[in-house]
Amino acid sequence: MNVQDYINRENKYGAHNYHPLPVVLDRGEGVFVWDVEGTRYFDFLSAYSAVNQGHCHPKIINAMTEQAKQLTLTSRAFFCSQLGEYEEFITKYFGYDKVLPMNTGAEGDETALKLCRKWAYTKKGIPENKAKIIVCAENFHGRTITIISMSTDPDAKKDFGPYTPGFVTIPYNDLPALEKELEDPNVAGFLVEPIQGEAGVHVPDEGYLKKAWEMCKAKNVLLIADEVQTGIARTGKLLACDHEGVRPDILILGKALSGGVYPVSAVLADDDIMLTIKPGEHGSTFGGNPVAAKVAIAALEVVRDEKLAENAERLGTIFRKEFSGIQSDMISLVRGKGLLNAVVIEPKNGKTAWDVCLAMKENGLIAKPTHDHIIRFAPPLVITEEQLMEAIHIIKQTFKEFE
Ligand SMILES: *Cc1c(COP(=O)(O)O)cnc(C)c1O
Repeated sequence: MNVQDYINRENKYGAHNYHPLPVVLDRGEGVFVWDVEGTRYFDFLSAYSAVNQGHCHPKIINAMTEQAKQLTLTSRAFFCSQLGEYEEFITKYFGYDKVLPMNTGAEGDETALKLCRKWAYTKKGIPENKAKIIVCAENFHGRTITIISMSTDPDAKKDFGPYTPGFVTIPYNDLPALEKELEDPNVAGFLVEPIQGEAGVHVPDEGYLKKAWEMCKAKNVLLIADEVQTGIARTGKLLACDHEGVRPDILILGKALSGGVYPVSAVLADDDIMLTIKPGEHGSTFGGNPVAAKVAIAALEVVRDEKLAENAERLGTIFRKEFSGIQSDMISLVRGKGLLNAVVIEPKNGKTAWDVCLAMKENGLIAKPTHDHIIRFAPPLVITEEQLMEAIHIIKQTFKEFE
């Protein structure tokens, strides 16, 4: 089978809910992936920051395969010997009383919304069915009906209604708008991404999160941080909230929580919030299963032992410096934090961000446009300085081809 045969087969038998770059990957190791013809690429998407620890990290793969031979799933109808170990590990790692384990990021967000509502009725005293949660324009929190109800992206939303009520949308990075909505006593939570990844790596003004946190606290409103993409060392700190010393009341993690080897997500909170959900009120068959537990511990140990946050901070600075030195009228802006960066592309002679990504692929580096005119650059955090410079060379060569 050649590359086109693989693509045709997916097109024939799979739903058309994605528009992938025409590359068929077969194998991965560290910062590299190889296609079915054996061509090597730098992976500058890292599965939307799920593979922060690098592809097929031996320590994480070993944890998964060893546990897979012993016990994979019990459901939460019974205790298992692995879950408590993981719960203790992750709560101490991030500094919260309790964790609620789920599988995907969207489930993590759904869990956080339910938890916030439960707290609103049982603790804050909001009248039944009146709780509101403030969200930001251009957010991305996943694909479920409730989550797309909070979306402002027409592609995510159109023809999927009716929508879940109970959300108020304000512009991102807009404290006066937040202040105004917080006047409503029925507001229970403020759900925010510390940096909006899918929107195109929108970094808010310095101090935004901190001020938002203080304003929420003053109104007894929960700050819910969706760190599914920004969390776990990607932006140069363990959490993006750490840049401003903000401790969310509810923290949502996913993606790199497993190093990309298994779907693992988590919601963290302290007892006064988490214990408002009682047995039978929420759950998941696979959430917190023994394999997920072992995989997540290993993935978090790798982040700490290999100092991935420090590496992301250091190499991110180099990346933005090198990028701002590229002479191309197609680059209108470079922005980001740590190794979560984006470049805004100015179309030229009908050539767009998509064409740049195709050309980079030909030169040995894969990345994906978001919103037509933005390319996100997010390599695995295990990347070395030497590898980064090689990748930047590829990117520079590619932009030269468009001159
Ligand atoms: C990817 C992402 C999600 C959804 O995660 P899934 O595992 O795809 O459901 C939620 N929030 C943010 C910020 C994300 O980047």
